Amino acid sequence: MHTANEIYKTVEKQPSHVFDMVSAMDHEQVMFFNDAETGLKGIIGVHNTVLGPSLGGCRIWNYENESEALWDVLRLSRGMTFKSAISGINLGGGKAVIIGNPKVKRDEAFWRRFGKFVDSLNGKYITAEDVGTSIEVMSIVMQETKHVTGKPISAGGAGDPSPFTAYGVFLGIKASIKQWTGSDDMTGKTVAVQGVGSVGFYLVGHLCKAGAKVLVTDINEANLARVVSHHPVTVIDPSEIYSVAADVYAPCALGASVNSETIPHLKCAIIAGAANNQLANEPLHGQMLLDRDIIYAPDFLINAGGVINCYREIHSLSETETMHLIDNIYDRSLAIFAKSIAEKIPTQEAAISMAMERIDEAKKH
Ligand code: NAD
Repeated sequence: MHTANEIYKTVEKQPSHVFDMVSAMDHEQVMFFNDAETGLKGIIGVHNTVLGPSLGGCRIWNYENESEALWDVLRLSRGMTFKSAISGINLGGGKAVIIGNPKVKRDEAFWRRFGKFVDSLNGKYITAEDVGTSIEVMSIVMQETKHVTGKPISAGGAGDPSPFTAYGVFLGIKASIKQWTGSDDMTGKTVAVQGVGSVGFYLVGHLCKAGAKVLVTDINEANLARVVSHHPVTVIDPSEIYSVAADVYAPCALGASVNSETIPHLKCAIIAGAANNQLANEPLHGQMLLDRDIIYAPDFLINAGGVINCYREIHSLSETETMHLIDNIYDRSLAIFAKSIAEKIPTQEAAISMAMERIDEAKKH
């Protein structure tokens, strides 16, 4: 597999050269789909299916151009490969992106058409919710394909994955605190949560219960009001999140928030949150955090609770088996921190190498 350095060099040079990008990222298959009647237009990325069928949510986003959409689906599906591999579940990495305004409500025909495209991959890609899609959307998609997870409980699904994701992120934060102080006691620790949507809301609940002082920010007033009415939090302005005095910065909004502009402002000792692809440029920003002695809990490792819950749905795992897989996030985070220190490499690189070991081992059989 190509290294992150090789990938970023290719993308910087030729962001619109499809095959260069696809081969730099080591994707098995990429499907572009288009339906004039419903206006559906998007891409499915199947990154790696060595451990099992590729699984990842479907995102709707107002991409500025097609290269941006391609880059997003390639990055997200690659991340899903590592997420499932490091979590010890038998799934590969996939993702779907649909180009369009996430705020526009789509009709049943639109989602049925998407379901048909998913079905045409015969199970090589299993879809689920992501930004801009919901359980309601998945219950339409499932009319056209059985390759869908994150279904409503009433339809035999495992329901909303967000509480599971939030719990895993909480464990990742606890492990990071342990790495930093020698104890995972959260009492009095300050955590700044960026984004209190589905995952952020539940995460704040765990943090408050553990005795942390929680600062929150969001650009959505309704989500802010909901968290304020349930938990003793302090609201800060979205512009303050990178420079606020906090022990932990927890990105739970969108990706790429850890970048060359934001890193110099950070006062935190730890970055650990739910957002996918937090590092805008993996090798560069992973190294910058290492140089600044900021502990970074790799996103795909600690936000795996949701995909583990999807895995539970596919294989009918019990609640105990599911929680055991999520509980492992704590020890695995500590193992990654130890590997990063021993090998003097960024934690993201350490986590990718651990995930790849499992995939390479599976290839031998
Ligand atoms: P969500 O859309 O429910 O919540 C995101 C929140 O972030 C929203 O309230 C939004 O208003 C806010 N936000 C957006 N831009 C912001 C900004 N600049 N400043 C402050 N707030 C901002 O999404 P979610 O399901 O809670 O997921 C959060 C992140 O975690 C996403 O990146 C998602 O891809 C990732 N993730 C989610 C799950 C899951 O189970 N839902 C699993 C793995 C990863």
